[in-house]
Amino acid sequence: MSPTTTARLMDGTGLARRIVEDAATRAAEISTRTGATPCLATVLVGDDPASVTYVRMKRSRSAKAGITSRHIALPATTSTAELVDTLGALSDDPGVHGILLQHPVGPHIDERAAFEAIAPQKDVDGVTLSSFAAMSFSLPGFVSCTPGGIMRLLAEYRVDLAGKHAVVVGRSAILGKPVGMLLLAQDATVTYCHSRTRNLSALVREADVVVAAVGRPRLVRGEDIKPGAVVLDAGYNAGNVGDVDFDAARTRAELITPVPGGVGPMTIAVLLAQTVDAAAQQLDSGS
Ligand code: NAP
Repeated sequence: MSPTTTARLMDGTGLARRIVEDAATRAAEISTRTGATPCLATVLVGDDPASVTYVRMKRSRSAKAGITSRHIALPATTSTAELVDTLGALSDDPGVHGILLQHPVGPHIDERAAFEAIAPQKDVDGVTLSSFAAMSFSLPGFVSCTPGGIMRLLAEYRVDLAGKHAVVVGRSAILGKPVGMLLLAQDATVTYCHSRTRNLSALVREADVVVAAVGRPRLVRGEDIKPGAVVLDAGYNAGNVGDVDFDAARTRAELITPVPGGVGPMTIAVLLAQTVDAAAQQLDSGS
């Protein structure tokens, strides 16, 4: 089929800015009303340069939004038990409202045990089993931030998901799996694809909505995008390249996220919004 459209871009940078502005307004209102400032604890194990950069970025964005951050840098030799103790203490600390454990934490640590030491009411990164279950059952709780950002983009561009076929490429615990559950909750028919999926192209060709969450440059071919489809590319690869062949996909899709400036900026925005939500809930309930 010949190209039929030039897709509209889904502007994650602009939407993320508005979400952060709203979080800043709400953080200021909480500080005025309660005398306490929303606080995000960031926990970093080791000194992996990418992780150091991510945490620094999250803390600096927090500060700009009027959220204080408490940073805990632990040596690479930290054991699972020590990390669990640290996260447990932060969970019990009334001065901390949200907890972010930067991951990956290193192969010698039981990451699941560490995540589970985060109290669900402070799990603003949406990494605990409790948060995943609540999200899957559409109960109150915090969602994994990148999937939450993808859903906010879909809402912003008024994409009606009911009855649509959504194909999610990738099934990681923080991205592919949760985004599929969130799409299902909005009545999409969801197909998950992963490294063992046979004939990815044929499945993508049937998709009304494509979410790419793999980490392989241009894995999703533009020619496989159904005309009029909505394409969200969470992938971020060297050279500012996504998981979707953007130039070709853009000639077929109706809506598409650019890389960078699409899904990427939404993650921190959702983290900050959820931190303010957590602070409001804890300070208003006195817990
Ligand atoms: P991940 O944990 O490595 O998971 C990748 C997924 O892709 C796995 O489920 C894997 O399948 C699947 N996969 C690998 N090769 C495939 C293939 N040839 N065909 C189909 N599926 C394949 O990665 P992640 O943490 O979910 O991150 C995915 C991408 O999103 C990365 O580019 C990352 O940088 C980006 N990301 C962006 C943000 C943001 O925008 N702020 C946040 C998080 C991640 P198996 O399960 O079978 O191994």
